[in-house]
Amino acid sequence: MAKIDFLVVGGGIAGASVAATLADEASVTLLEAEEQPGYHSTGRSAAQFSEIYGNAAIRALSRASRSFLFDPPKAFTDQPLVRPRGTLFLASEAQLDTLAAFAALPDVAPATQMLTPGEMKLICPVLRDDYIAGGLHEPLSTDLEVHELHHGYLRQFRQRGGILRTDARVSAIARRAEGWRVTAGAEEYEAATLINAAGAWADEIAIMAGVPPIGLQAHRRTAALVAVPAGVVADDWPLLIDIDENFYVKPDAGLLLLSPADETPTEPCDVQPDDLDIAIAVHRAEEAMALDVRSIKHSWAGLRNFVPDRTPVVGYEPGVEGFFWLAGQGGYGIQTAPALARTAAALALGRDLPDDLAAFGVTTAAIAPSRLRPPASAH
Ligand SMILES: Cc1cc2nc3c(=O)[nH]c(=O)nc-3n(C[C@H](O)[C@H](O)[C@H](O)COP(=O)(O)OP(=O)(O)OC[C@H]3O[C@@H](n4cnc5c(N)ncnc54)[C@H](O)[C@@H]3O)c2cc1C
Repeated sequence: MAKIDFLVVGGGIAGASVAATLADEASVTLLEAEEQPGYHSTGRSAAQFSEIYGNAAIRALSRASRSFLFDPPKAFTDQPLVRPRGTLFLASEAQLDTLAAFAALPDVAPATQMLTPGEMKLICPVLRDDYIAGGLHEPLSTDLEVHELHHGYLRQFRQRGGILRTDARVSAIARRAEGWRVTAGAEEYEAATLINAAGAWADEIAIMAGVPPIGLQAHRRTAALVAVPAGVVADDWPLLIDIDENFYVKPDAGLLLLSPADETPTEPCDVQPDDLDIAIAVHRAEEAMALDVRSIKHSWAGLRNFVPDRTPVVGYEPGVEGFFWLAGQGGYGIQTAPALARTAAALALGRDLPDDLAAFGVTTAAIAPSRLRPPASAH
């Protein structure tokens, strides 16, 4: 059995992107449990890039990902990875203070402008006068071509000599003197370093390896597609999102994507939508907009996985040689993938964070697994 440098568990956007980056200078095998990589969270997102979505650490990672997403290397893809789609944060009268506080954040202010209800209705005429009191517009956010980004990384991985195994569910992990011995499907693998990019299942992988879990919690999020109201052209609307993230509405290939922005804690699984969540999405969207939803064309749900501080977990597990985390990307794992992949690859190779990422405000302290561990006892 050939020993490889890095064994990456999980073929979603996290695993694919770090595997492709590492394969430039190391031997890498990528193990995916499903027949298709991208079956879980990566294939179920709302496909939005917004530099002002998420906490400060997420916003830094998103800013640091912008140049790759907007201008990917020619060899990576000849398709655009982004298409213009602004984001409009909505506030009712009771939410105006929250909107103003958010708009004043030093990294939010330069990317946005406050709009009056009248200005908001020029952008989206079906907004209800008796609901909206103000808005914050981020004009330079975008749609993301998630499939193209994910498959760009998988293509790059193969071109660099990486080996992808699908239908390869990791079922056992044993620590050996010189690395890890991993059972996946009917095969055994040996690697110096294990990279845990298993999405909602990352804590299960850790437990298999004898590493303490990080307290990752999977949350269900639901999406439904409905018709655009008769006589309305919605293609150029921004993504419309409640400032407290109670719902969002986004044009999607001639339809409207509605989400109640639910965060229902759940066990890792092939999560399915719940009718009540879909009804809540329709109700909240119809309170803010004249939509008159008659039927649901399609619906789905996916998992967003968080540790308590809602910041990704990237780095070696302290005290366990060769066990590396790339988990907890929550609702931001696509838009932060380029910066997270380069950060993870640098740290996995024992290097410092690249300077250009640090210049955007990315720090290793914010994402280190050690922040989730009890402080060492002082004696
Ligand atoms: C409804 C919704 C909307 C979202 N919208 C956005 C958005 O607009 N923008 C954005 O940036 N992000 C968004 N996200 C979040 C984004 O989808 C995730 O952060 C991202 O996909 C996480 O990628 P991942 O690779 O960590 O997880 P996954 O894609 O779930 O990949 C993990 C992989 O590990 C595999 N695996 C698990 N256990 C094993 C095992 N034992 N052996 C081998 N393989 C295993 C799984 O099969 C899976 O393929 C959204 C998510 C949802 C659900």
